[in-house]
Amino acid sequence: MLLTLTTTHQPATDLGYLLYKNPARVQSFALAFGQAHVFYPEVSVERCTAALLLDIDPIGLVRRNSGPSGEGFALEQYVNDRPYVASSFLSVAIAQVFGSALNGHSKDRPTLAETAIPLHAKLTALPCRGGEFLLRKLFEPLGYTLTVQSAPLDEHFPEWGQSRYLTVTFTATCRLSELLSHLYVLIPVLDDDKHYWVDDAEVEKLLRHGDTWLAAHPERELIVNRYLRHQRSLARQAFAQLQEEDNTDPDTTQAAHTVEEATIEAPLSLNQQRLGTVVSVLKQHNAQRVIDLGCGEGRLLQMLLSDPAFSALVGMDVSHRTLEIAQERLHLDRLPAKQRERITLFQGSLMYRDHRLDGYDAATIIEVLEHLDAPRLAAFERVLFEFARPSLVVLTTPNVEYNVKFSGLPAGKFRHRDHRFEWSRAEFRQWTNAIAQRFGYRVRLLPIGPEGADVGSPTQMGVFTRGQ
Ligand code: SAH
Repeated sequence: MLLTLTTTHQPATDLGYLLYKNPARVQSFALAFGQAHVFYPEVSVERCTAALLLDIDPIGLVRRNSGPSGEGFALEQYVNDRPYVASSFLSVAIAQVFGSALNGHSKDRPTLAETAIPLHAKLTALPCRGGEFLLRKLFEPLGYTLTVQSAPLDEHFPEWGQSRYLTVTFTATCRLSELLSHLYVLIPVLDDDKHYWVDDAEVEKLLRHGDTWLAAHPERELIVNRYLRHQRSLARQAFAQLQEEDNTDPDTTQAAHTVEEATIEAPLSLNQQRLGTVVSVLKQHNAQRVIDLGCGEGRLLQMLLSDPAFSALVGMDVSHRTLEIAQERLHLDRLPAKQRERITLFQGSLMYRDHRLDGYDAATIIEVLEHLDAPRLAAFERVLFEFARPSLVVLTTPNVEYNVKFSGLPAGKFRHRDHRFEWSRAEFRQWTNAIAQRFGYRVRLLPIGPEGADVGSPTQMGVFTRGQ
């Protein structure tokens, strides 16, 4: 599996500074699923090409239990196209081997990393479900000129038709980080096959790297749908492993609860990202019975309802009006009986101990905490972590440090008028650690959304887990 990156921006050898890879050397990296090699087949001041060659180890994959599942024919675990094609493995390799470039950082050429330069990428054996037509629909709106070569499945048997693997060149004038993030996200989308994410955090990264351009992409829905599907397959395959290691993680959500907040945050398109991430966290933990506290208009519930893995869903909110909107959004009146049985909404307050909160695998509290003032927060802590005590709690809240990045938000103001506070990363860490310690949970913190230098990401998430 080969990716080449070429620039004609002069001096072209600066590509080495952008990629943090010396053009004079061949370098190899051990990845969880094989080896990556970086070398430069072409180096001159006028034109420089870096190549990333992936050498996937299918046997190792199976051994590590992160390879293809046992579905399909007996040898499918060993005999499949994964070693040869551009798939999610390539995305993982891009993130690991060209991580700084992907994030737009260059110590030695910071200005160049921010500059649009002529770039040319070539992928051999790109599996395209949806063919050239879809390939173009995905990349052309992002400003690429493509050349696409298809090959016969077997030269000796033309009647077998064309292979579904394409060799594609992508040409654009853009920042290297943009090119890499487009490839990072869209390669797995095009492949649309079973995905064997080696590390679940990759899913979160996938969403994060799409963040700046996905919102405006005309095929946004297809892109998001395809990779949400991948997360489900990830979750299934990774589950056994996860139980062993409890190597849990990812990310987030929030829905644009009010127009005000939504408008401030809209350019980041955080909403889909948060929802997708929360769903992914729930699935990694195999949570089937989920209660969404402060469910608002039911956006998270809507997403969970469309996934049969969730057997019981409950939304609770203190606002009756909001629950009416949720009811409409979820079409509760029109759901078939079986679906209807899976979901319940009720009015309640996080301030009071309530037995209706008992017995769920997971509770989500998405962008709610900051609406509670200090005495209420103290009550809420006990209601949730001492009394209801689900084994998994997924909680998100704004990171106040990021507010300087919102152009529509005056300095010193919170994102929403009703917010009683917005915490810095340190404040959130302190609170989550104190909660975990006091109530016997473990907590993991994860950023959601694009990370700004020194200010972190717009949303912070805590994933609390409790021993059996
Ligand atoms: N989780 C939703 C809504 C977030 S807005 C989303 O991400 O879209 C915050 C919600 O918390 C509002 O719907 C508000 O009515 C609810 N809320 C505020 N205080 C509450 C309390 N004490 N108990 C339950 N819900 C509360």
